[in-house]
Amino acid sequence: MGATTITENAVNQARQRTEIAVVGGGLAGLLAAVKLARAGKQVVLLEQAKGLGGRAATTVKGDVRFNLGPRALYLHGAAHRLLTELEIPFTGAVPNTGKGMGYYGGREYLLPRNMSQILSTSLLSWREKWQLFRFFQQIHSFDLEPLQRTSIHEWVTTRYGTGALANLFFGLFRLSTYAADLELISAGATLAQFRIGLTGNVWYIDGGWQSIVDRLRDRAVGLGVQIHTGAHVHAVRSTAAGVLVQATHQPDLHAAAAILAVSPQVASLLLALPEPHELVRWSVDSRPVHAACLDIALSRLTRPEHRFGLGLDEPTYASVHSAAAKFAPPGVAVIHVMKYLQSNQEQSARDNEQQLEGVLDRLQPGWRTHVLTRRYLPSMAVTHALPLAAQGGLTGRPNVAVANRPGVFLAGDWVGQHGQLADAAAASAATAAALILGSATATSAMRELEYA
Ligand SMILES: Cc1cc2nc3c(=O)[nH]c(=O)nc-3n(C[C@H](O)[C@H](O)[C@H](O)COP(=O)(O)OP(=O)(O)OC[C@H]3O[C@@H](n4cnc5c(N)ncnc54)[C@H](O)[C@@H]3O)c2cc1C
Repeated sequence: MGATTITENAVNQARQRTEIAVVGGGLAGLLAAVKLARAGKQVVLLEQAKGLGGRAATTVKGDVRFNLGPRALYLHGAAHRLLTELEIPFTGAVPNTGKGMGYYGGREYLLPRNMSQILSTSLLSWREKWQLFRFFQQIHSFDLEPLQRTSIHEWVTTRYGTGALANLFFGLFRLSTYAADLELISAGATLAQFRIGLTGNVWYIDGGWQSIVDRLRDRAVGLGVQIHTGAHVHAVRSTAAGVLVQATHQPDLHAAAAILAVSPQVASLLLALPEPHELVRWSVDSRPVHAACLDIALSRLTRPEHRFGLGLDEPTYASVHSAAAKFAPPGVAVIHVMKYLQSNQEQSARDNEQQLEGVLDRLQPGWRTHVLTRRYLPSMAVTHALPLAAQGGLTGRPNVAVANRPGVFLAGDWVGQHGQLADAAAASAATAAALILGSATATSAMRELEYA
């Protein structure tokens, strides 16, 4: 976890005025703080936890580093683009999956990754192979705008039925969006995310995402950002002079503008928004995405060539992240196993853990005798809001500028009309900073973060 960056003594002397207050020291808050500080703004960042990073933090267990469940940075996504723009150094590598396996109908299949594997797989019929080939030919020319209000489940089943090909798509779309609610997520948003992965691939990050968090913190501190950890913000009010931010163990902070890089529920509470406010109404209908994560370090793999497994007719995932990036000493295998959770199903944490152990039994039979350390996270919030077809997909998410709260902006993986997951957090952070700097409209700020 990131270290506390100012002493208690310094906290007491903290200035009561700043140009910009940032609430939340996850990726969104840190990215916004660095972007604003680079433009010469005076920034104070308040984080309630002891360390920085939020959901991008990495846990150190002995000499093993576990992200909070699997993490993959989209190389053609807004987060990568903004980190590059801000000159934040980090290293990593594309997943080294070996024989990637797909599970369907109780059987194991090699996941087809190129034309010859599509032709030779016994997973698909000849008609489905042709349909899959056509899909990859057409994916970049689909008009996604009209598909924002259609669910991906409806889009897939209308075109491809409900057989093996449809389930292959379901597995791939869960992989790129983390959504198990395929009847709810927008087809436009899903296909856009799939395209980003297809054109740019992803990276597992050496040392975990904490490496990025730590470099962001270093850059922020170097640029003069005041970072206060252990500072729980309990109220944010628009005033005639700007914005007043109140936090425990902190003097009242007066700022010209504030960015709330927190969840929709926390943002609504901090702003004391009335029930009819559009953010509160949107928040009631929104669906967060959760996952059950089993993080495991093994002294060795039992099937070294099988390093990736994806459920096609079940919402599961397993990947040996250490085969690509550095998370542990050489020879130690760091594996993330995950179940994508449906929002409308009560599921027992223990049953889910046993299911995840079963997933690993398939990929690495006999793994139980090689466990060095493990950690189970029964319900991680992957993203605070699924882009719902019923809400218009990406276009239905809240704007960065908060209605009727002058000087207050939002950032996070549920804000703005661009991207998903960390890319949405980065895009909204960049947009909030650009709006504060007056250098761009929300639309032009987002366009700058798109790869051609
Ligand atoms: C299992 C899992 C897998 C994921 N995989 C991927 C992936 O492969 N690719 C990808 O792009 N994204 C992935 N994500 C999503 C990504 O991690 C998040 O989108 C991103 O980290 C969100 O950053 P954030 O800053 O918006 O939110 P957070 O990280 O949640 O940060 C919010 C911060 O605000 C602080 N805070 C809250 N309330 C207050 C308060 N009142 N006062 C002060 N501070 C407060 C919190 O402590 C926290 O540090 C995954 C997430 C999970 C859980």
